Amino acid sequence: MNERGLLIVLSGPSGVGKGTVRKEIFSQPDTKFEYSISMTTRKPREGEVDGVDYFFKSREEFQELIKQNKFIEWAEYVGNYYGTPIDYVEKTLQEGKDVFLEIEVQGAIQVRNTFPEGLFIFLMPPSLGELKNRIVTRGTETEDLINNRMKVAKEEIEMMDAYDYVVENDHVELACERIKAIVTAEHCRKDRVSKRYKKMMEVGF
Ligand code: 5GP
Repeated sequence: MNERGLLIVLSGPSGVGKGTVRKEIFSQPDTKFEYSISMTTRKPREGEVDGVDYFFKSREEFQELIKQNKFIEWAEYVGNYYGTPIDYVEKTLQEGKDVFLEIEVQGAIQVRNTFPEGLFIFLMPPSLGELKNRIVTRGTETEDLINNRMKVAKEEIEMMDAYDYVVENDHVELACERIKAIVTAEHCRKDRVSKRYKKMMEVGF
């Protein structure tokens, strides 16, 4: 039987660049993680494809899936539901493959409760000024909305304590390298491998 894969959770405050880092990781040919495609009730953006970027659902469909316990976690974010389907994650971990989630912070906290053995990585902006720049250049928000987003982002940064690692997103390529290095190190963690090597010792040579 395969050893169970690792559940990798990348999260961090709104505007930090989680989506960009995730896309960069999965554009690299040597990446061996499996990306868990989320479900959402938000409308597809231009160029987004159902079943590739997200599984796009109606609010009714999403609520029905919540009732059926089909999510590892779900959250309402800026008026839309987002959630991680449980079946794909469980099946893929069982196959011994690492599963990668890129989700906002409320969802990550829920995953921590149900998968304490997961690997939780917090993506950190280089500074609050830089985060504000990214939020400002992203859209057409009013001053009030921007200030509100910054307030939420600061609260989200305070949730950093619930994570195992903090990666600064100063440059996308560097952030990706650090994340991959963390995953490699995690696979060598004594607690994760000791069972395997104890077995090896029992079998002998
Ligand atoms: P966007 O609408 O820009 O694609 O995503 C908005 C936010 O939702 C991002 O912070 C993204 O990380 C988060 N997100 C995407 N999928 C999920 C999910 O399955 N669960 C949760 N909790 N957040 C998600």
